[in-house]
Amino acid sequence: MAPDRRSDSFTAGQTIPRTALVIGGGIAGCAAAYALAKHGIAVTLIDRAPQLASAASGNPRGILHARFGAGDNPLHHFVREAYVHALGLLDKVLPVDGVMRAECGLLQLACNAVEQKRIARLAEQEWPEHLLQFVDAAQASRLAGVEMSYGGLWFPTGGWVVPPALCAALVRDARISQRLGHGVETLEKAVSGWCVGGRDAQDRAWSDEAEVVLVCCAHSAKKLAPFTHFPLIPVRGQITEVLETVSSKALRAVVCGDGYCAPAVGGVHVTGATHAFEDISTEVRAADHAENLMKLAEYAPVLRQALGAEDVAALNGRASIRCSAPGSMPLVGEVQSGLYCSLAHGTRGLLTAGIAGEVLAAQICGQLPPLPATILAALNPLRRVHFPLGAQSAPYQNVPLQRERNNG
Ligand SMILES: Cc1cc2nc3c(=O)[nH]c(=O)nc-3n(C[C@H](O)[C@H](O)[C@H](O)COP(=O)(O)OP(=O)(O)OC[C@H]3O[C@@H](n4cnc5c(N)ncnc54)[C@H](O)[C@@H]3O)c2cc1C
Repeated sequence: MAPDRRSDSFTAGQTIPRTALVIGGGIAGCAAAYALAKHGIAVTLIDRAPQLASAASGNPRGILHARFGAGDNPLHHFVREAYVHALGLLDKVLPVDGVMRAECGLLQLACNAVEQKRIARLAEQEWPEHLLQFVDAAQASRLAGVEMSYGGLWFPTGGWVVPPALCAALVRDARISQRLGHGVETLEKAVSGWCVGGRDAQDRAWSDEAEVVLVCCAHSAKKLAPFTHFPLIPVRGQITEVLETVSSKALRAVVCGDGYCAPAVGGVHVTGATHAFEDISTEVRAADHAENLMKLAEYAPVLRQALGAEDVAALNGRASIRCSAPGSMPLVGEVQSGLYCSLAHGTRGLLTAGIAGEVLAAQICGQLPPLPATILAALNPLRRVHFPLGAQSAPYQNVPLQRERNNG
């Protein structure tokens, strides 16, 4: 039987709004703006920073890391759908050029007991070869170009992208205008839609109104009244940039264990990333560089050796804050009439933001959603938010907080 793609939010004959405000110019906001603009909606994309992709989406490179699970649960189905969707979207807006995007392949190494178990369970199922293959250490070494101590999974279409370039490409549309340097402080229901307001970079008050508003500003959304009770958790992460060496230059695929390392571009590898819950500092720390390199030594010891001795205090890197939610699924959907969100993309926004944008566009325009109802239900913010007694009521699932086992 075909999966049920209809959901409660599907309304045949619904009027398509003419205007939308999207708060947040990271990958979630840019992908949502892209999807709405494709439906003919005039979008204003608002960000408090003077440029797009200034926060978690601002890393010099990110990887397309689909950590598939063998289980039959909505998260596993969602990750698979998101990966395939992300590849299609990237082909449209950011074709492979080796500079802004590479489809160099990606290895997930069976480097510890958890990964061995996950990969063994995946091996019990049938997978199309163009999606993923099972490889031993010798095959993994040939694919990586550097000796690997472990086999695992090979994703031929995996690779890396430059997230700020992806954000810029998504909003290259005449129907999208940008209002940068405009922090949103208030979000209120208006006569026909929603009104947002705040102060701009020169500290001048401003406001704007539209038929629909999409909140895509990661954990900062909690400061806006309708989102106060959302279970948004800031998780600091740091990547490390390491100069290539004669030996490490041979690396030609992304390798992942409890972390990842990407082939050098312009003489620089990117490796990462650390995870620190409830830490919102974006200072770059030598201790985090050391942690990234230590993890690399565990899952790819020969590659770590190839990079040579590093003075961690002298390394470059970047730290920013992910937004996560219990259960590891993003929060995507309608919050109140005309108010939507795409939040908590956690460690895999490059995979999940695109399809989240399509889900919202379909809901807003009353079209058939691009995902089955079971996944939409798991994404639905109103099922995941615990509203205290006396506040707005909504059903919720109390999903325990868990460390997302992903690398981004
Ligand atoms: C170290 C690290 C490595 C990662 N590596 C990967 C990876 O390899 N692959 C992958 O898929 N994912 C990776 N991720 C996760 C990925 O970066 C995130 O999932 C993604 O960037 C989230 O996008 P976003 O748009 O939700 O949030 P953000 O990119 O954080 O964007 C939020 C935007 O909202 C704006 N904003 C906030 N408050 C306001 C306000 N009040 N008014 C106006 N604007 C506001 C901010 O300025 C910001 O631009 C990594 C994350 C980190 C931290």
